[in-house]
Amino acid sequence: MKNFYTLTLNEIKQLVQKKELSKKELLESLFQRIDKIDKDLNAFISLFKEEIEISDSKNFLPIAVKDNICIKGKKTTCGSKILEDYVSPYNASVIEYLKNEGFVFVGKTNMDEFAMGSSTETSYFGYTKNPYDLTRIPGGSSGGSAVAVASYEVPVALGSDTGGSIRQPAALCGVVGVKPTYGRVSRYGLVAFASSLDQIGVFARNVLDAAIVLENICRYDEKDSTSINLAQEKFTEELCKTDEDFIKSLTIGVPKEYFIEGIQKEIKDKIYEVINFLSNQGLKIEEVSLPNTEYAVAVYYIIAPSEASSNLARYDGVKYGYKSEDKIVSYSQSKMINMYLLTRKEGFGSEVKRRIMLGTYSLSSGYYDAYYLKAQKVRKLIFDDFINVFNKVDLLITPTSPTTAFKIGEKINDPLKMYLSDIFTIPCNLAGLPGMSIPCGYDSNNLPIGLQILAPHFKETKMLKLAYFIEKNFRFKKITNEYVVGEQ
Ligand code: GLN
Repeated sequence: MKNFYTLTLNEIKQLVQKKELSKKELLESLFQRIDKIDKDLNAFISLFKEEIEISDSKNFLPIAVKDNICIKGKKTTCGSKILEDYVSPYNASVIEYLKNEGFVFVGKTNMDEFAMGSSTETSYFGYTKNPYDLTRIPGGSSGGSAVAVASYEVPVALGSDTGGSIRQPAALCGVVGVKPTYGRVSRYGLVAFASSLDQIGVFARNVLDAAIVLENICRYDEKDSTSINLAQEKFTEELCKTDEDFIKSLTIGVPKEYFIEGIQKEIKDKIYEVINFLSNQGLKIEEVSLPNTEYAVAVYYIIAPSEASSNLARYDGVKYGYKSEDKIVSYSQSKMINMYLLTRKEGFGSEVKRRIMLGTYSLSSGYYDAYYLKAQKVRKLIFDDFINVFNKVDLLITPTSPTTAFKIGEKINDPLKMYLSDIFTIPCNLAGLPGMSIPCGYDSNNLPIGLQILAPHFKETKMLKLAYFIEKNFRFKKITNEYVVGEQ
C-alpha cells in the first residue's frame, strides 16, 4: 500500500478535493503506522479508529488532540489518575471549529500530568519516547502530540502551551510548534492549568500545515471571557503570497539574554547560522536587550502554581473523576474530609502535589504580598521589556530550548533543572505573546535543534511568514530512521 501517512495536511486537502484519495485508504495507512510504531513511542493515550470509520464527514483531515482538550463522549485524562475515567460531556470550542471544517480526531495524546512538566515523564500513562532516540524524552508537556507528528502518525496535532509546552517539545522532536497570542484561541474546553498563561496551539511538520489548523482555531469565542474579538485571519493565503521583499524589509531582534552561559554550544552556533543567513539575505539584524528575562522562571513558578492550586481544587472526588472512599487517613477529621484527602493523595502525582503546595503557600495571606503580588509586578516588567523591544524590531529570534532532548530519568528527580528547560519559552507566556519553534538542524548526537520566533501581540501572520521563509530557504539535510520518515 502507498505510504499515505507521509502526506502533509495540505496534500491531503488537495487530494481529497480532487477526489484522488479516499478516507479508507488514508485512515488505514495512518492507523497501520500507529499500530506498528506507537507501542515503542507511546504518543497516544486513546485512539478513535472505529468512530472515524463510521463518521459521515466527507472531508477527513486527520488531527491528534492533546488529552487536556475535551472531545464529547471521549475520555479527557490530562495524563492523570484522578481523571483516568473522566468522559467529557461537551466539545471544546476548537474541536467544534475543526469538526465543522472536516477534521477528524485520530486520538488523544500523552502529556505530563495536568501539563506540568517538560519531558512527558509525569504522565500516569507512562512516558513518551523521542523518535530520534528512544532513550530520550520528547520534551513536554505536549510530548505525545509532538511525537505523533514527528513520527508520521498524524500530519498535525493540537497541544497547549502554558510555559513552553508546545514550542519546547516541537524543538526536541524536530517539528513546527506554534503558540498563538493569549486570547486568540478559545480556552473553552481546555482543562485549566494556569488560566492567565494557558493557550491552545498546533504541531505540524511544516509551517503551511500549521497555518491551516491555526486559521481554523484562531477565532473569537463568547464562551471564553478572555477571547479577543478579532476578525479571523487567512494565514495560508498570506503565506502563499510570494513577498520576499516584505521579508527582506524586516528587522530581527536578537536578545542577548537568550544566549547565556549554560546553553548547549551547538544550539547557539546553529541559531547564529540562521541569523547570519538572514543577514546575508538582506534582513536587518539588531542585538536587543530584555533585561528582566532572568526573573521569568522564578515569576512563572509563583504564578503558574498559584493559579494551578486554585484550578485544581475542583478535583475533590465529588464533581469529577476518581474518588477514594471508606478509608481513614485522619481520625481527627470527618468522613468527608477523609474522602477529600485520600482522593487527592491517591489521584494526583508528585509533581502536581508539589505545584499545589507551592501555589497554596504563595497565595496564603501571610505570603501573598511577598510572593504572588511581587511576581505579578515583575511579570509587568517582563511584559514592558517586550513592548519596548517591539518598538524597534519586528520579530525576535532566540533558541527554543537550552539543550536538545535529554535522557529519560535525567532530570525527573531534580525539579529545578527540569524547570530551567523552559527558560527561553516562559517569558513569551508571561507577556501573552505569540511564539513558535521551527526545526533548523541537529546536534552531534543527531538530535533536533529548534529556533524560536517571538512576535508582538496578534502578529502571527508576520511570525509565520518569517518561519515559512526560513523553512524554504535555510535548507538542511533531514535525518531519518524507522520512526522519522524521509521526505518523499
Ligand atoms: N514545563 C512548564 C511547566 O512545567 C510548562 C508547561 C506547559 O507549558 N504546560 O509548567
